[in-house]
Amino acid sequence: MIRLSAELVVDCANDLGEGPTWDAVSSSLLWTDVHARAIHRYWPDSGKSSVIRTALPIGSLVMREQGGAVAAGRNGFHFLDLTSGDMQPIGDPEDHLPHTMFNDGKCDPLGRFLAGTSSQRNEPEGAFYALDPDLHIRKYFDGVYCSNGIAWSADFRTIYYIDSLAYEVIAFDYDLPSGSISGGRRSVIRFEDRSVLPDGMTWDAEGMLWIAEWGGWRVCRWNPATGERLAIVDVPSRNVTSCVFAGEESDALYITTARSGATGEDLAAQPHSGGLFRVSTGVNGGPSYRFRG
Ligand code: CA
Repeated sequence: MIRLSAELVVDCANDLGEGPTWDAVSSSLLWTDVHARAIHRYWPDSGKSSVIRTALPIGSLVMREQGGAVAAGRNGFHFLDLTSGDMQPIGDPEDHLPHTMFNDGKCDPLGRFLAGTSSQRNEPEGAFYALDPDLHIRKYFDGVYCSNGIAWSADFRTIYYIDSLAYEVIAFDYDLPSGSISGGRRSVIRFEDRSVLPDGMTWDAEGMLWIAEWGGWRVCRWNPATGERLAIVDVPSRNVTSCVFAGEESDALYITTARSGATGEDLAAQPHSGGLFRVSTGVNGGPSYRFRG
């Protein structure tokens, strides 16, 4: 088992850091602090960072080809102005559901924004959606408790998906030209330790998955073909939420974390909890794609 350690990059003390995405145009990393209604940005070349505030909590965001970003969060999908924090509504497929909001999301290579919702009362009332470039919202499936990690195989013929409270990674056949999930549902990775929740996820050029563990102090690399854990990245924060590779040919994995719920002794053991962390993995990662609408 390969064992790596993540280092602190930005001591941002996020209550719920989430949804990191890499913007290759500006060479910066963006992520959300959901509870704080804040979008953070970090430029590795200069070491600078910035924060903007938004009116609504955002679960995830992707860069937009026309400029700015698209966010998924409370009240559905919004265009997001990254200078002012202004949000323009696109659509909310769950405006009839008061206890759900959008959580993890990311674009496929054709610029569709896939994102799922999470129930704040742990009911299977969430669902998994895509916002197409024509701004139509399609529902893939429902019955979801807490929609989280999304990743693809290196050839994009398989999509991997995590509903955290199912304690597993499931796979479906994915048809990239149409953006449809065409069946073939199977369980590929199982989490036996119920004290840990699989959270955000990304993939690398070798087709392996990197999965953040809420409550697990780590991100692990997995082989979805065998269900085998290949590597452990230790993170000095209990609640590890998500990860993304920076740049198309980079091996740097950036990791978001959450300070949420930590007080007193617990916080003393993880003083940089809620920070942004980084580890060099030795493998090139999957890119962050932009929304084409
Ligand atoms: Ca998440």
